[in-house]
Amino acid sequence: MPEGPIDLRSDTVTQPTAEMREAMAGAEVGDDVFGEDPTILALERAAAQRMGKEAALLVPSGTMANLVALMTHCQPGEEVILGDQAHIIRAEGGAVSRIAGLLPAILPNTSDGGLEPDRVRSAVRGANIHHPKTTLLALENTQNFCGGAVLGESTTNELAAIAHELGLSTHMDGARIFNAEVATGISAARLAASMDSVTFCLSKGLSAPVGSLICSDADFIARARKNRKILGGGMRQAGIIAAAGLVALDTMVDRLAEDHTNAKRLAEGLVELGLEVDVERTETNIVVAPVPDALALAAQLADGGVLITVLSDTLARFVTHHGIEAADIGEALTRIAAVLKVAA
Ligand SMILES: *Cc1c(COP(=O)(O)O)cnc(C)c1O
Repeated sequence: MPEGPIDLRSDTVTQPTAEMREAMAGAEVGDDVFGEDPTILALERAAAQRMGKEAALLVPSGTMANLVALMTHCQPGEEVILGDQAHIIRAEGGAVSRIAGLLPAILPNTSDGGLEPDRVRSAVRGANIHHPKTTLLALENTQNFCGGAVLGESTTNELAAIAHELGLSTHMDGARIFNAEVATGISAARLAASMDSVTFCLSKGLSAPVGSLICSDADFIARARKNRKILGGGMRQAGIIAAAGLVALDTMVDRLAEDHTNAKRLAEGLVELGLEVDVERTETNIVVAPVPDALALAAQLADGGVLITVLSDTLARFVTHHGIEAADIGEALTRIAAVLKVAA
């Protein structure tokens, strides 16, 4: 049981495992901008294989992974269709416009993290000389701000079919796609099969210190490599990072199931404390609770020894991750109950 606060802010607070630190210390490295870091090459091969794509590229962060993918799919001035809850829209500093120079066509996300097929179809612009060219559809799986919602295989494929029929490419921000794999039992490769590119983070639930991968066909990855260089993301002897990533892929995917079980238990416990959490919709490692004043609650909980984040003025977010055990969930609920002044 932790003496200090129980940190449910994000799965990004996870620490590298002892096995990761050992692998990092012993990693064979080279200059990756020259394509000579054997550990990075091994990670990129493993990632591509895992995702069912031809090739992959290591970048420092999920934000850069999305940005490089956007820049590789689209030319400045073109339009990308995105959900209003997309991480690219809400949490990447506007890089889609500021750096990639793209016009986002923002559609409302459905509560399951998807988009309405008819809206996608009508958002694609015609050949009129006045129009920007609509080039890309970007999805997210799991959908972070929709409470870690799993984007189902059939939804993904249906939306991709519309995009491809209308001449668009498709990208999936799969920062937590392995949470979707573990929650559904459907491989990440299958969940992203209809996507032209897919990214995932090593540094969230997989607990590596740094790194994200972009996976696609070999030509796309070759062009993405140049965009990574343009953004300053060429990293030299970053096999040190990749070594931890290989361990993450090998050892940290299956255990995400524990995070999902803990999130369910937390969701049920919050319901018992009178909060209106949708337990059914708590599919992965993110619990969203509607509350009257999320910022005030977060401050009170911090004083009470539970750290959380807010999604909006009225939505509190709790994230389970490696390092949070079942017993910590019980203790967190006791502390939350004390803050809410309800008997646990
Ligand atoms: C965390 C996250 C990212 C960005 O990853 P960083 O490594 O923090 O830049 C992108 N998309 C989603 C859905 C995320 O949750």
